Amino acid sequence: MIIVMQPGATREEEQRVISHLEREGFKVHLSRGIERTIIGVIGDKTRLKAETVTALAGVEKVVPILQPYKLASRDFHPEDTVVETGNRTIGGAAVQIIAGPCAVESRDQLLEAADAVREAGATMLRGGAYKPRSSPYSFQGLAAKGLEILAEARERTGLPVVTEVMDQNLVEDVAAVADVLQIGSRNMQNFALLQAVGQTNKPVLLKRGLAATIEEWLLAAEYILNAGNSRVILCERGIRTFETYTRNTLDLSAVPAVKHLSHLPVIVDPSHGTGRRFMVAPMARAALAAGADGIMVEVHPRPQEALSDGSQSLDPEQFAALVREIRPIITASGRELERQVV
Ligand code: PEP
Ligand code: MN
Repeated sequence: MIIVMQPGATREEEQRVISHLEREGFKVHLSRGIERTIIGVIGDKTRLKAETVTALAGVEKVVPILQPYKLASRDFHPEDTVVETGNRTIGGAAVQIIAGPCAVESRDQLLEAADAVREAGATMLRGGAYKPRSSPYSFQGLAAKGLEILAEARERTGLPVVTEVMDQNLVEDVAAVADVLQIGSRNMQNFALLQAVGQTNKPVLLKRGLAATIEEWLLAAEYILNAGNSRVILCERGIRTFETYTRNTLDLSAVPAVKHLSHLPVIVDPSHGTGRRFMVAPMARAALAAGADGIMVEVHPRPQEALSDGSQSLDPEQFAALVREIRPIITASGRELERQVV
């Protein structure tokens, strides 16, 4: 439910409504817009007596939230959420470029990639220490050793680190190093994992499941929000369709759809979204033109030697060209590339 206050409602009137709801056992979320204030209410709706609330001074109306997700919906929280992580903000005016290899393969490989992407203008570093692979015989990541290397790369470059956590029992270990916890596509509906990352104080990058509808994706975000973590970033990474030319079908229409339905920031991963190196830059440009809050791109010092996702990885030079190409699009969209830390 949301409670829409009258345009001229006073702070005291707002406070009386909030106190009433809290006494009744509801959780409330206040959004003060330019025109009016909206109070989001979470709890057992059968216990909310709309007539009693409507009768309180300053209340205009009580409206049910029709979507099955509540905390993630824009009705509940009309203004855009800006997620802060260390010295970065995701959502709002800044655009983030997250870049790095698919997997941390060795200290040399990761540090080389980190230096190169930083030099080219990336604002955050990615790299998986734990990798979800379709085959049990494929490289599974360096695990704890990979986390150590990521921590060293952050020290060295100043770039915040985004890395995947696949197992609820490892959330604490990964959160000790990661600036942003990534939930991979295959785990989008791992509800125990969603709840576990919801209990941390780290931002969560929630990738869209490979066969998930937008509603299912937002419901997955709802699990994290409902567990108490309000810092969720959505990431469109392509979905399964009948098309086989591309690895996935990058659903860029999800960007405006999610922005319409939700207040959460949304970024786009054109690497997994296409699976083909030559398509990464054009789709990155399109993503930012469509209003994405950032992109996540796989970059490897020598893609031909990559232990995973080499065919969609850019080399440092190609990545530098991509950054040059997207700069005018960011400016034309009235946004700015977050300045690099020096
Ligand atoms: C990744 O980012 O390397 C990854 C495994 O992505 P996804 O979960 O989208 O497949
Ligand atoms: Mn990958």
